[in-house]
Amino acid sequence: AAGAGPYICVPIVAHGTTMGVFHLKVSMPFDSPYFEDAMNDRQQLAQTVAEQVSISLSNIRLRETLRSMSIHDSLTGLFNRRYMEEFFKREVHVANRKGTQVGVIMLDIDHFKRFNDTLGHEAGDALLQELAKFLRKYCRDSDVVCRYGGEEFVLIMPEASLEVATGRAESIRENVKLLRLDYEGVRSAGSVSVSLGVALYPDHGVSIERVLKSVDDAMYRAKRGGRDRVCVAE
Ligand code: GH3
Ligand code: MG
Ligand code: MG
Repeated sequence: AAGAGPYICVPIVAHGTTMGVFHLKVSMPFDSPYFEDAMNDRQQLAQTVAEQVSISLSNIRLRETLRSMSIHDSLTGLFNRRYMEEFFKREVHVANRKGTQVGVIMLDIDHFKRFNDTLGHEAGDALLQELAKFLRKYCRDSDVVCRYGGEEFVLIMPEASLEVATGRAESIRENVKLLRLDYEGVRSAGSVSVSLGVALYPDHGVSIERVLKSVDDAMYRAKRGGRDRVCVAE
């Protein structure tokens, strides 16, 4: 800035990325006989401080990366099963306190093995990524979508009624057919379909394990019933 005295700037670099600049203002006139010595001194100080800050920032970033890796699935970027279960547990407490319900949808891609066999495993991976993006769009920010297993996904919908959860499942089932995968110029032949199960806490199970079992049963009923359909837990 205009009128400012001498100063020193040292970049703060963490993992090769510049995160900021350490700015040290030196209160000594330029024409002082001690000016050069003082500047050398401050330069050392600035360097040391910037290094310490860089190390701290690196550690914070690493911790964030590790945390993110521990709760997300690397292929789709969706939450993983572990995170979903923790979230579900928390929502069960909220539901117990407020007397509300928690909606759960489980879905599985129909004949995914055939898709992999005809178009290749990488095309299969690309489809999983597309489906993940699609599911996130069909979810509220307060819901959680997770990759439960290979080609199985689970949605947790806090405070959803059976009508809302079933309606959401039905609209996922219909709209997933519009997904078109362009993979290395190969357009996937035909459309993708999914089979879905719907269940509610506490109506279909007194614990998260029971509700997940109920929703799994419902989804398998949808498979046995001919796939490409929604079944509600009994
Ligand atoms: P269904 O309609 O009964 O669900 O038939 P399906 O073929 O989808 O079911 P099955 O369980 O027999 O096969 C699941 C397939 O999913 C087998 C496996 O190769 C594939 N799969 C699982 N995880 C991944 C993955 O990460 N990437 C790819 N490309 N394929 C996967
Ligand atoms: Mg399947
Ligand atoms: Mg499966």
